[in-house]
Amino acid sequence: MSDLAARIAEAVNAISLVDTHEHLLSEEERSRAAVDFSYLFPHYASSDLISAGMPPALFEAVRLPLRAVLTERAARTRRPRPYPAPARTDMSLEERWSAVEPYWECIRHTGYGQCLRIAARDLFGVPDINRETYRRLSEAIAASNRPGWYHHVLKEKARIAISIQDDGRATVDKTFFAPVVRLEHFAVARTRDELAALEAESGGTIHTLDDLLRAMRMTLDGYLADGAVGVKIALAYRRVIRFEKVAKADAERLFTRIASHLGEGLSWEDARPLQDYLVHEIIRAAIERDLPIQMHTGLQEGNENILTNSNPTHLVNLFIEYREAKFDLFHGGYPYTGELLALAKNFPNVYLDLCWLHIISPTAAVRMLHEAIETVPANKVFAFGGDFIIPEGAYGHSVLARQVVARALTEKVEDSYLSEAEAMHLARRILRENPATLYHLKV
Ligand SMILES: [Zn+2]
Repeated sequence: MSDLAARIAEAVNAISLVDTHEHLLSEEERSRAAVDFSYLFPHYASSDLISAGMPPALFEAVRLPLRAVLTERAARTRRPRPYPAPARTDMSLEERWSAVEPYWECIRHTGYGQCLRIAARDLFGVPDINRETYRRLSEAIAASNRPGWYHHVLKEKARIAISIQDDGRATVDKTFFAPVVRLEHFAVARTRDELAALEAESGGTIHTLDDLLRAMRMTLDGYLADGAVGVKIALAYRRVIRFEKVAKADAERLFTRIASHLGEGLSWEDARPLQDYLVHEIIRAAIERDLPIQMHTGLQEGNENILTNSNPTHLVNLFIEYREAKFDLFHGGYPYTGELLALAKNFPNVYLDLCWLHIISPTAAVRMLHEAIETVPANKVFAFGGDFIIPEGAYGHSVLARQVVARALTEKVEDSYLSEAEAMHLARRILRENPATLYHLKV
């Protein structure tokens, strides 16, 4: 490493991060899940294992110790797809390792695999994840169930000042987290039973579209009272993120079909104009409260998703209509990175967020950061969001993200595009100051 690279890496490593996005288990949930090596596969690497050809039901048998906590969490976060049933429930630790091993060997070099190997090395003292180490790794994971583990991983090792947390709960541990609110379930209700669940959540009855809007705002205000700092919309997992402008009368006509106990509800396709109307209303509610809006764009986690649903250019009508909104667009829009860069360059209300991107592809993240420095105003780039369920993953991700930022900045100085002082200044902005400013975080 050159002296320049070493100086920049040192400066980047010293920054206390503002992490724009996590889904972390509570420490109590984590303590129930962290039983053995399978704890490392709640998501991401699991999707690569299945992409490599591992049968989903066999994979579920491998991560059986994690299943209860994942299922609980899926209900809380309204995960649209259920986990498949495990192929077996009686496999020994060794059988479970043997089942995953051939697929793990195919994915150990993906960004997801790399991230987990960094976590195993630095947090559990295991140099690699393989047949020689899985028992030792399993023991180390079980032994890590002690008070103070989150502090150790997130504060001491990852050096994260605060994480913006999306896990379907308003009440979070403020030492680590600031919550965001999910309100899409107000936009996608299609049956009387789903309305009843919204009534229970918001504490008011819902018979008209105005009732539904009031319930949505009451729920939002409840989260705000608990310290929510933004709204998150992740409908790209379920439908195209083009949200048309719909007249209220048209939305009301559709709503009447779900409001009555005698009504048959709406099909997903028929409900689309009502969903569009309600997404506009969620955005308006966020604007009224000066809350940034986090939007999922690009690659969806899991397998067999409809990628084109998530192209950030679908959102342009919202950017044009809601100038006073602040849209924090996630995941670098990968693979629509060029589109997202152009949008963040063009629209004052669009921010570029690299959360998740460093483990999808560190190379894509370096390239995108190079382009972002050249195209997007320096106040609108957020360089880190761990986007993990387990804190060890957020740690591994933070290591890769710091490497990406240091490498892109070093190359920019070597190319005489930036001075060293400018590079150091940019590092602080994108890893800490920009998200702290947008979300009004006191760090
Ligand atoms: Zn996420």
